[in-house]
Formats: sequence, C-alpha cells, structure tokens
Amino acid sequence: MEKNIIVALTGASGAMGGEVLLALMRSELNIKVRCILFEKEKKTPALFKKTLKKYKDRIYAFKGDISRREDCEELISGAGYVINCASLIPPKSDHDPDGTYRSNFLGTKNLVDAILASGRDIAYVHIATVAMYGHRAYPHIWGRVGDPMISSDYDLYSLYKLKAEKYVLESGLKKFVSLRQTAVLHKYMFANNLSDGLMFHTVWNGALEWVTDVDSGNMCKNLIERDSDGKLNGFWNRVFNIGGGESCRVTGFESFDRCFTLTGKGAKKYFKPNWNISRNFHGVWFYDSDELNDFLDFRNESFEDFWKRMGKKYGYFKLGAIAPAGVVSSLAIKRLFKNTNAPMYWLKHGKDGRIKAFFGGKEAYDKIPDKWENYPLLCEGKLENGENIDYPKLKKAENAKSLLLNHGYDDSKPLEELTLEEINNAAAFRGGNCISKNYGKNPREKLLWKCREGHEFALTPYTVLKGGYWCPHCTEPRPWKYGSLADIPFYGQVYFDSHSEKEIYDVFPLSEHEEEFLKQ
Ligand SMILES: [Zn+2]
Repeated sequence: MEKNIIVALTGASGAMGGEVLLALMRSELNIKVRCILFEKEKKTPALFKKTLKKYKDRIYAFKGDISRREDCEELISGAGYVINCASLIPPKSDHDPDGTYRSNFLGTKNLVDAILASGRDIAYVHIATVAMYGHRAYPHIWGRVGDPMISSDYDLYSLYKLKAEKYVLESGLKKFVSLRQTAVLHKYMFANNLSDGLMFHTVWNGALEWVTDVDSGNMCKNLIERDSDGKLNGFWNRVFNIGGGESCRVTGFESFDRCFTLTGKGAKKYFKPNWNISRNFHGVWFYDSDELNDFLDFRNESFEDFWKRMGKKYGYFKLGAIAPAGVVSSLAIKRLFKNTNAPMYWLKHGKDGRIKAFFGGKEAYDKIPDKWENYPLLCEGKLENGENIDYPKLKKAENAKSLLLNHGYDDSKPLEELTLEEINNAAAFRGGNCISKNYGKNPREKLLWKCREGHEFALTPYTVLKGGYWCPHCTEPRPWKYGSLADIPFYGQVYFDSHSEKEIYDVFPLSEHEEEFLKQ
C-alpha cells in the first residue's frame, strides 16, 4: 500500500528550503508538501517557481506569516511531518530585529504550539544553526553537541535561534529533532555576498565546516524516507550537528580564496587582511557531524565539488570577464565599506562598541598587518602567536580529542546513568547548582537550577547537558555582555581564546536598531 505522507515546510523559498522541497519531490514515496511563503517577500526565487510548476499536483503553497498562530495551524493541517527551515539570516537579520524575533523565535513557538494543540502525532524537524555556538578560535575550533550555547555580541540571529531551539527542547513535543545547520554553500552566495558589509564578517583563521544546499535537501528527504521505513531508531528527541564532514572543513580564508579563484585570482588579490573582523562571528569544525550522516547518509558533495559546480554555472571566463581583479576590488568590494555592517564604516563613524566587539578595540585593530606576507594564516601552518602548526594534522578529527571543550561531567556516560551529585558538579562548572533534591534518571524531566546570580530556572538535564543551555537571564543578556560569564569555567574556556584577561565584564551598547525594537 502506498503511504500518504504530507510534509509541512517553512522557508521553501530560501537557499536550504528550496532544495528540501525539490528533494522531497524526487522521493519515490510520492510525498505531498504544504508550504507557507512569507507574505512580505517581494520576489519568489526561480527555483521555487520551477518546482511548483513541475509538481503542482503535489505542492500546496499559500502566502502567510509564521509569526501568526492561525497560519501555522493551516500549514500543519493534515501533515505528518513539519520541517522548519524558515529563518531570517544575516545580513537581513542584522538590519531587522523585529523580523528576526518573529521569524526565528515566534515562528518556531507558533509551530510547536500548533502541533501540541492539534493532539496528533506530528514529527517536528527543527533547523537550528551553528551560529548558536558563537565565536570559536584556536585551540577550540572543534565543536560538538553539549558545548555552550552563546551568541556573538550584536548577533540577533543566533540569539533568537537559540531561544527557539530551547523552546523546542522544553516543549514536551513527543517526536522532534533539532538539526544545527552549519554554513551552507548555496547558489545565491555570490549575489548575497556582494551586497552587504557582512562580506567582511568572516574571520580569516576561523574554522568552517560547510555543507552544500543540495546535500541539505537530500538530508531531509532521507529523514522522511528512513523514518517512514522505521529505520530511525535512536534518532528522535535529540540534537545533532549538520556538517559536510572532513572534505568540507576549511578556514575562512580558504573559503574566500576558493570562491574568488573562480575569477582567476585568489582572495589575496582582492582583500587586505585588515578588512575583515578578527573575532565575534561564528564557525566551527564539528567533531560529531558524522553521527547525523550515519543516520541520514546525505553527504555527496565536498567543498571542492561545490565550487566546481559553481564554476560550471557561472564559468571562470564569464565571471573573470565581467569582474577582473582590480574592478572587483575597487568597485564591488570597497563599495561595501559604506554599509553599516562593514568594519570600515564602524571605524569611520566611531562605532566603538562594534570595534571593541569585533576586534578588541582600535588599538588591537591597528596591530593587524595590512599585508598578507605579514599575516599569519592558520591554513598556511601559522598561529597568531608566531608559532608553526601542522595544519593537515589539526584538521583530522582523530587528533581533536584533546582540543574539545569540557562539559563539566563525564559525557561518555548516558544521562540516565548520572547521579544527582554528578549533575550538581556540572551545575557548579556553570557557576551554579541544581536545587532539585531528586533526579529520577529521566533526562526529559525538568529540574530546578540556580545560577550564581541567584536566578532560578527549570530546564531538563538534556537541555542543560546536551543542549548547552543555562540561565536565561545571564546567557541571553541585553545589552550584550558575555564577558560577565568569562570567569565561569564552562564559558571562560571559549571566551579567553579570543579575549584578553582585561576584557572581563565588558558591556556593549545596543545598536540603534535594537534600541528602537526594545522600546516597542
Ligand atoms: Zn542568571
């Protein structure tokens, strides 16, 4: 008997959602999809239109807004699965706090609440983000589930994404999974990158594990197919990291360099090392991304495969002809110096909070070499303190164990086997304690916790120990002041990789956008 599978999908007009929709249509299971398209979006991408036209009998699409509960109810009507790919991402999120809150938090809350209220067994697939791990620098460039959830200063995108994921984890949904999406290699990259100061928000020595748009689409297709075949034992009600694996692990510099090589010349021809931020973004190599691939077997394209695909699409000759090195550099790139997201704009307009957050202050900025021959690139085997490092060896996951963050408990043990004392030690590692007097060996049952500032909050042990969450008042502060957590071991182990000892208790003023938003 043919199964009747209906999937409700958000974000279908986006870089990832569009590929998810296409992959679902290619499934042999004859899947039907219900899509909500954001009513305020001016242009519908060609890929979505094409997919809709080709499979119009199997796709139902309507315009709406997931920040309205009734629209979420309509979306999930009759569906057995919900895949939530909707997100307002940088650079748009950097300019629109209200939209970011609505899309990234409220939309998720409405979907989860609508599923709970329906009383039906609907599986919820949440797409979270690597940005929730915040900035990572050498030596802690490997990340995994259980690492602290901490946004970068000024990053509303990840702030609302982590509030949303925590809501999912704590909601009591019967069947869900949260997949933390890494940086996605997608076909709109050129256009998006050449339009905003976000272009300069890549840290040259930052670790990035990419995944391609097509592989991300296939991942969701495989999820539905395998689940409907009963093959996903041990998969649900957990958090995973999405990543393309070893062949997709590079640095920020390598990413730019490979992209610009399509024009015939690498990144050194177009950029100066002091044009980009030196910290306070996000990106990591996932120590545990193979776990998700073991379940869903979605990896087909490497980092190099993607750029070959782009080369075929855009063509070296075509792009090189339109934009020879000097022209790209002086017109397309320098033009972005005027964008409010660009470091050059912050320097020119005295945005001291941003300069402090993204560089460590004007003095630290002035020390960045402006010539590549003086700049230590990790991918060329140089550390920022002048020492040499074996970069190929650093990239191997089997050598990464000693570089992993401490979670404050023996994480080789299943949470069901922890004692209350061990849970309390983990809380102490986060600067607080567990107030509950009993742990019934159920990591899904909420316990009461207290942070060192005296805030009390209820969270499940799974959310704290595997989710990486802690006190909502202290770890989601406004104004931004993550330095106030730096003397807590769980957070300090990351913070001091890119901050000096003097930068503890720093407070960053809200941006103009945010002040307006919080007044509402
Ligand atoms: Zn607190």
